[in-house]
This record gives sequence, C-alpha cells and structure tokens, in this order.
Amino acid sequence: EDEIPEDHPRYQDLLTRHRIEKGVEKGITHLQGMHAEGRGSAFDYLLGEETIPSADDAERAAAAHLLLADHPVLSINGNVAALVPGEMVDLAETVDADLEVNLFNRTPERMQAIADHLRDHGAEAVKGLEADARIPNLDHQRGKVDEDGIYAADVVLVPLEDGDRAEALGEMDKTEIVIDLNPLSRSPRVAEVPIVDNIIRAVPNITAHARDLVDADRDTLEKIVEEFDREHALEAAEERIRSGF
Ligand code: ATP
Ligand code: MG
Repeated sequence: EDEIPEDHPRYQDLLTRHRIEKGVEKGITHLQGMHAEGRGSAFDYLLGEETIPSADDAERAAAAHLLLADHPVLSINGNVAALVPGEMVDLAETVDADLEVNLFNRTPERMQAIADHLRDHGAEAVKGLEADARIPNLDHQRGKVDEDGIYAADVVLVPLEDGDRAEALGEMDKTEIVIDLNPLSRSPRVAEVPIVDNIIRAVPNITAHARDLVDADRDTLEKIVEEFDREHALEAAEERIRSGF
C-alpha cells in the first residue's frame, strides 16, 4: 500500500486491488474474489467512484435497522475481510452486532485465517466456525451458519453476497442489508436494504450514521426505516450508471 501514491487519480481503486491481492496471498481471499473485485471495480467506475445520494440514504437506513435489531449479525467473506476488516469491527462495536465468517468456498484453513485476521483488527468474538445450523434451501456447504449467529439473527448485513445465498437468507424471517456495486445483481434485488456503493466507502459511512443515531429514540429510527425506498435506491443507481446522473 505504501507504493501507491495517494494523489493518483485512481488511488482508491488501486488500493482495493492491492488489498485483494494481499488477501489471496495470505489465504484469506479465494482466487475467485479477484474476479468479483474486477466486476465491482467496473461498476464503481461507472458510478463515478463516489457514494451517490441514494446510497447514502440506504446507508442511513441500514444504520437504523442495525440499531433497532435485537440480534444483528455482520457477515464476513474473503473479500470483505481483505478490504475492510477494521471497519467491520468498528461497525460491529458501534451497533453491538456479532461478526460471522461465511464463505462461498469454505475450507477450515480459510475460515481460521479470516477469524484470526479479524481478531488482529480488534474483533473479540468471531462466529461461523461452529456451523451448527443450516440456511434452508441451499446446498449443505453453502448453507452452513452458526445457530446463535446468522441463523438466529433478525437483521443481517451481507456485503458482496452471492445471489443464491442472498435469496435463501431473504426467505428466512430476517431483514437483509446487502452491499453490492451492481444494482442488477440478484443480491441487492432481494435485499430489504440494497446499498449500491463500494464497501470501502459504505461500511465507514454506515458506522458514521450509526454514531449519529445511537441516542435516537425508536420512533425516529423506525421513521428512517419506513421512509427508505428500496425501489428508488435500485433505480437511482441504475440511472447513474446508464446516463451518468
Ligand atoms: P450473482 O448474480 O449470482 O450474484 P455476480 O456476478 O453478482 O453473481 P458474485 O461473485 O456473486 O457475482 O458477486 C460479486 C459482487 O460483488 C458483484 O456484483 C460486484 O459488483 C460486487 N462487488 C465486488 N467488489 C465490491 C466492492 N468493493 N464493493 C461493493 N461491491 C462489490
Ligand atoms: Mg451478485
């Protein structure tokens, strides 16, 4: 990261790529995570590499949902762990959520490497290693979750999630918040709160909104949740990508 000059016009994108490469080297990120990153990067370019107003609204709604939740859980995969480990730990602390490692290509080594990586970034407890419950309607490997984690959660944040699992999670009785740069991908389309933004910008901004709202009463939080319009969020992002405004 030291080699990338901060005044480079594509600094953030280069930094992101570099973090994913490091993640692959460390055994945190699967090689397929590089393809996911490439797709994300293309959409981010078209969005202007900034948090558009409708994404900021979604990030505020996500913060309200997480603060209202009885049992919020933040799901971590190999790209999330490589890109925003400390930021996910901060968000978990701010909204009092659990962190759970949840991998598409699950191996014991990668599960452990990610849990260790999160602890290095300040996480106290990391879930996902028990894998004593299953998400219904997913194959055995991909449905593995912790009984007292994602399985029991009422609100789940699933960044960069695969479409099948986002769909299966959405069919359980949970509020699903998805971060995904592609507004046409199935994952944001099945989410109650689709956040079309780069995870690098989205997670710190959800945390900033949560800090701002932490003393708000339930009525205020519920109003933010009610006023959020998921269809508008998806349409506004698509409009930005297609026509540039
Ligand atoms: P599916 O339709 O099954 O969801 P997909 O093409 O979306 O398939 P996946 O590998 O499941 O592929 O998802 C990767 C998703 O993550 C892509 O939609 C991509 O835009 C998004 N993504 C990649 N990097 C980032 C990032 N830094 N921030 C936000 N979203 C990202
Ligand atoms: Mg997808």
